[in-house]
Amino acid sequence: MSVSDKHVWHERARGLKAEWRAFIDGEYRPALSGETFESTNPATGQKIVDIAACDTADVDAAVAAARKAFEAGVWSRRAPVERKQIMQRFAQSILDHREELALLESLNVGKPISNAYNGDIVSSASCIQWYGEAIDKLYGEYVPGAPDMTTMVIPEPLGVVAAVVPWNFPLSMACWKLGPALAAGNSVVLKPAEQSPLTAIRIAQLAVEAGIPPGVLNVVPGFGETAGRALGLHMDVDAVGFTGSTAVGKLFLQYAGQSNIKRVTLECGGKSPQIVMADCPDLDAAAEAVAKGIFSNSGQVCNAGSRVIVESSIRDALLDKVAGIAGQFVPADPLDPETRMGSIVSEAQFDRVMSYIDIGRQEGAAALLGGSAVNQGSGGFFIPPTIFSDVRSDMRISQEEIFGPVLASLAVDSFEQAIDVANDSVYALGASIWTGDVRRAHQAARRLRAGVVWVNCFDKGSMSAPFGGFKQSGFGRDKSMHAFSKYMDWKAVWIAS
Ligand code: NAD
Repeated sequence: MSVSDKHVWHERARGLKAEWRAFIDGEYRPALSGETFESTNPATGQKIVDIAACDTADVDAAVAAARKAFEAGVWSRRAPVERKQIMQRFAQSILDHREELALLESLNVGKPISNAYNGDIVSSASCIQWYGEAIDKLYGEYVPGAPDMTTMVIPEPLGVVAAVVPWNFPLSMACWKLGPALAAGNSVVLKPAEQSPLTAIRIAQLAVEAGIPPGVLNVVPGFGETAGRALGLHMDVDAVGFTGSTAVGKLFLQYAGQSNIKRVTLECGGKSPQIVMADCPDLDAAAEAVAKGIFSNSGQVCNAGSRVIVESSIRDALLDKVAGIAGQFVPADPLDPETRMGSIVSEAQFDRVMSYIDIGRQEGAAALLGGSAVNQGSGGFFIPPTIFSDVRSDMRISQEEIFGPVLASLAVDSFEQAIDVANDSVYALGASIWTGDVRRAHQAARRLRAGVVWVNCFDKGSMSAPFGGFKQSGFGRDKSMHAFSKYMDWKAVWIAS
């Protein structure tokens, strides 16, 4: 098909039959209760399909299937090279279904089809492939202990891993968990966000077709308060890999304490600062990074650069440029390949973002751009790029995660003040600085409190580099070999000779 023709995407969308059931023990099943919930397209407000609403009973069945597969060793004790080949086939299958998966993702969350097709689906496949490739490179250790002993330290999978993920990059976030958890030999129960279950449900079958044994990957769509909570409290789940809000991340820590002290790792919210100093070597590049950093994916990005901290002398020049680039992000039909900005994910999220825009005005910030809903005749939820200037660090729009296309601009008068303002947050996920001074660049890299720091760039990443936060942005890392530490443990073995 022609991926550059919106009519073709629309036609394909009309013919789409999305799978709606849970995937447990290698087969699709409705929820045991028979309950469903509506999955809607947030760009039109129309129903896509009714989804199985899994609750405790379904979670029990999925965890039991995962445990049975783990103990049987069909995956956990299989030769690494065989698991690697299967993961590679799984990754290839995701790529082979790129059009279908991109369409499901775009319809489900209002994401521009070109982003889903060229970004999300490809990066999800790369993630599975990367971890498949890593499986036979996970070495243990030989310990120089006593002369009559052979002492080894062996990495082992934990058992049953629950992956609980959000809706902003549904398939990518799922694959950031599935890649290392499966590669380590665990069985997984994946709970997609209620707003975005379609691609997670679909890839479960692709995984089994690629050779991942039944029970090793299960998918339980459902609400957080039911299916998510049941996973958090389950006595036979060994670990939870969570991505989502800080508030729900805290609940998972409580669930662990109330149940079996399962391991919990958290990738949570952010309020990432982008510092632009007056000695910035390329103001155009900085402005482009600032705009893309907050307006891509409608600002629904954990490490969105939602605070720009700019030296007063260049503030107006920078904001003019950012506003100019923001003009390229016109909220429009997500199925048009020309569209760079889609809809907000849901009515609830739309209301939340709009309420923060009101709060910004009430707090006395100056709305430079945007601030009103658009495309209201579409039935969907669209908010254009919105920029506030004259923001103070103590304002709520500077402190709280909005998770929408809303940029808060804060002016500062020195490098020291810029670092202080940047670090004045409960979050610490990403941070950037634009400066031509090499000493400042190094100082900022050390002093910015964030899991990822970018200098003279923003949002660069690869599978080889870890991603995650400090403070209330969470702990544990996705991506890279470091992610294995979330899903494996070390066993010391002493063999007398
Ligand atoms: P959310 O916390 O509402 O939901 C995340 C997941 O938790 C969903 O699957 C949801 O069903 C589940 N959940 C919700 N309430 C629950 C409960 N009471 N018990 C158990 N599970 C529950 O987050 P969201 O709105 O889906 O996603 C947006 C958030 O995700 C933002 O805060 C964003 O910053 C964060 N995020 C972080 C990263 C990262 O890597 N740090 C990446 C993407 C998104």
